[in-house]
Amino acid sequence: MTATQTLIELEDVTFGYTASSVLTDISLDVESGEYVGIIGPNGSGKSTLMQLMLGLHTPDSGTVRLFGQSPRAFVERERVGYVAQDVTENTKEMPITVFEVVLMGRFPHAGFGRLTEADRDHAREALRTVGIEHLADRRITKLSGGQRQRAYIARALAGEADLLVLDEPTVGVDAESVEAFFDLLDGLNDDGMTVLLVEHDIGAVLEHADRVVCLNRQLYFDGPPERFVETDALDKAYGTNIRRGEEVTLA
Ligand code: ADP
Ligand code: MG
Repeated sequence: MTATQTLIELEDVTFGYTASSVLTDISLDVESGEYVGIIGPNGSGKSTLMQLMLGLHTPDSGTVRLFGQSPRAFVERERVGYVAQDVTENTKEMPITVFEVVLMGRFPHAGFGRLTEADRDHAREALRTVGIEHLADRRITKLSGGQRQRAYIARALAGEADLLVLDEPTVGVDAESVEAFFDLLDGLNDDGMTVLLVEHDIGAVLEHADRVVCLNRQLYFDGPPERFVETDALDKAYGTNIRRGEEVTLA
């Protein structure tokens, strides 16, 4: 076991796309080995928060650190496996196979850009871990949503990522596959992978994550699921009385 490391640090982060802020005064750290579930209504700033963590936006004030560095200066990109919301979009026209997508995860590790048999073994192993080795030769575009999410996770595993950042990975995935997907994440986290998950299914987060972050432009809760259910953070963030596990959309 290696010592715990702080992978992400946000201190008093405020950010807006325009003059008005989308996120205000957000402070939170993510330690290695954690499984953090981020919840909040539509438009509450969840995706923006992830993009800030990854350096895709720069805060208006406050600081963000990724593996102890400014995310913009952070070069070891392969340490973070980021599965963006709606991965379908950017793979629409890609004429490449699942194996090739996963093998891409090896490029940062390949000397002089040349992949070896060992790299291929890494890719095959990653495909086995996520349970889609039988789809290796299929075009990535021919996969279902759930299978495609697994392929992207396999790419991160092949790249030896330390941190998985998943933005609503189960949207458009059938119920049975969703369950299996959460089992996969549980297993990866048990094996030491740090998981940061944005998820609209609050019940799933309470069941699987060991820490809940609830936000709506500001932070309403950050702590263990057991404590979350005893607070009124849910009502405050969602602005309505809802029950656990319900899918919520703010009109
Ligand atoms: P969530 O992921 O929780 O649904 P987002 O982070 O996507 O929320 O969005 C937070 C707010 O920022 C919303 O009001 C959204 O309309 C706005 N927003 C998101 N992306 C952009 C953008 N690229 N330009 C301007 N506004 C944006
Ligand atoms: Mg989002």
